[in-house]
Amino acid sequence: MNNKASLLHNASRRDWRNWQWQFRNRITKLEDIASFYGRKATAWENLKKAAAIYPLAITPYYFSLINEDNENDPIRSQCFPDEREITFAGGSADPLLEDSYMPAPKLVRRYPDRALAIVTETCATYCRHCNRKRYWSVPASGKLQKRIQRMINYVAATPQIREVIISGGDPLTLGDPVLESLLKSFRAIPHVEILRLGSRVPVTMPMRITKDLCRMLKRCRPLWFNTQFNHPAEITSESARACNMLLEAGIPVSNQSVLLKGVNDSASVIRDLLYSLQKISVRPYYLFHCDPVKGCAHFRTGIAKGLTIMKKIRRQSGLSLPQYVLDVPGEEGKLPLTAISRTAQNDLKKFQYFFDKCGQID
Ligand SMILES: *Cc1c(COP(=O)(O)O)cnc(C)c1O
Repeated sequence: MNNKASLLHNASRRDWRNWQWQFRNRITKLEDIASFYGRKATAWENLKKAAAIYPLAITPYYFSLINEDNENDPIRSQCFPDEREITFAGGSADPLLEDSYMPAPKLVRRYPDRALAIVTETCATYCRHCNRKRYWSVPASGKLQKRIQRMINYVAATPQIREVIISGGDPLTLGDPVLESLLKSFRAIPHVEILRLGSRVPVTMPMRITKDLCRMLKRCRPLWFNTQFNHPAEITSESARACNMLLEAGIPVSNQSVLLKGVNDSASVIRDLLYSLQKISVRPYYLFHCDPVKGCAHFRTGIAKGLTIMKKIRRQSGLSLPQYVLDVPGEEGKLPLTAISRTAQNDLKKFQYFFDKCGQID
């Protein structure tokens, strides 16, 4: 059986810092991490089934952040297959109905002014809480170039679209030349004012953020970069360095966390995460309520939990506060859930004297 050290391949420093090495050497076999699970035979059968439906892939870097002695390690929970992915009922494959809002294959348009391009199904590390889990075991059909061309044609013919979000999968699993041609093609459309990249590589494979990449991205500005740190343990010198390189290239980095049971569903963990993000100049943007996706039920908390957390952190620095949102199907999109709305009546009553004094506006 393998332990953590043997799985890290005694990489040279040079290999370790090379993203292609990290990508090539991802841990993809359940057998390789068997020793972490103990020896429950029934669970093992279920684990094998779960991994057959939802494959695993973990970069050696992300794997190295796991504390071997903690069965509930927050990083382990985000990347190790869990039998509850198949034994917990509930959820739908595509709860946001993305597949019904695709005017071109894999181009999702749920808002008039922006469209989201799924340019790959591959990720550096597969997050067990992924809301596009439905794509993992279905290889992309058709050639990437053809797929991109159809997206470009649609966006070019739709002047209302002013922002294009390049997403996936993880677009930064593509090499620089492919990525550059993709960004340049969207950039060349006159009404596309803003480009946005959605990528988790600063968290799961930070060595992907190279000087060359930053030079290229710098030329594609205005470009916004959204990533996903979910736990303070993910903020390391490597991930901080990756974010800093993007920031130095003039690319604002924002964070979209997902509220995950057993990973970050407490006010103290969320506060620690948000303060840590603020320290590395990454703007907390959204805290997503976990979507009702099939295979993710064990990660979902109630909305009351999220509201309680938001209430507890409400008075900390506004620059460290994300918006807590629930994504709902179709065109409605992301709905803000605010701590104050639950207690609005009482809170407002408390301040009646203030409104009276200032002269109530409405
Ligand atoms: C979340 C999302 C966006 C971006 O929404 P913002 O609120 O601007 O971050 C755009 N398109 C789709 C399909 C989305 O799901």
